[in-house]
Amino acid sequence: MTDTPEEDGIEPIAERKMRFLFALRSKGVTDARVLAAMERVDRGPFVRGLFAERAYEDMPLPIACGQTISQPSVVGLMTQALGVGPRDTVLEIGTGSGYQAAVLSLLARRVYTVDRFRRLVREASEIFATLAIPNIVAIAGDGTRGLPDQAPFDRILVTAAAEDPPGPLLSQLKIGGIMVLPVGQSDTVQSLIRVRRLETGFDYEELRPVRFVPLVEGMASD
Ligand code: SAH
Repeated sequence: MTDTPEEDGIEPIAERKMRFLFALRSKGVTDARVLAAMERVDRGPFVRGLFAERAYEDMPLPIACGQTISQPSVVGLMTQALGVGPRDTVLEIGTGSGYQAAVLSLLARRVYTVDRFRRLVREASEIFATLAIPNIVAIAGDGTRGLPDQAPFDRILVTAAAEDPPGPLLSQLKIGGIMVLPVGQSDTVQSLIRVRRLETGFDYEELRPVRFVPLVEGMASD
């Protein structure tokens, strides 16, 4: 434990918020809509237990089921790369804490978010209800298959790393649609890539190195 003011809860909320936004900007999150959305979504409720007091720092933190809530600047950069519009239907694979979905919900018309842990979906849904977020549908399922019943999607965001973009997700993207995801063959070397679906085929662009938990096929047991 340290006795710095922010960890004692003494730091005024406005200052905490300013530091949070400054960290985002200094890491390259410059899109005004994304910054405004991230200013509005309080990361606090999405981080429970031991690490709650670090919710406003720009770092990834452990959540239930051995998973991780992403670093805020990475959430910002991925959201920015996705280029979400107010009429878009977005699919997120990897609900985790629900924080990324909450940020997307302020930018899109509707967000579907899928996780293989029922517990994470349940806990995230409780937070969405508490915060009265009306446009997120959280579903327990294997995200490598996408969500065929709701497809196609304008935007798809995957927040767990696969070796390659899963075929079902590529096929559930609208023409002109964009998918952002981490890909890589190991836990340590991954790249964030942006895929655009063209009239014929796909365009791939490498954005930056990242580190995510793996995308695992099949449902989890809890
Ligand atoms: N976006 C989250 C962080 C996600 S961590 C947030 O804002 O907090 C990655 C998540 O991907 C984990 O919760 C993990 O359970 C989930 N995941 C991994 N493989 C999956 C799969 N096949 N289908 C759905 N979710 C998966």
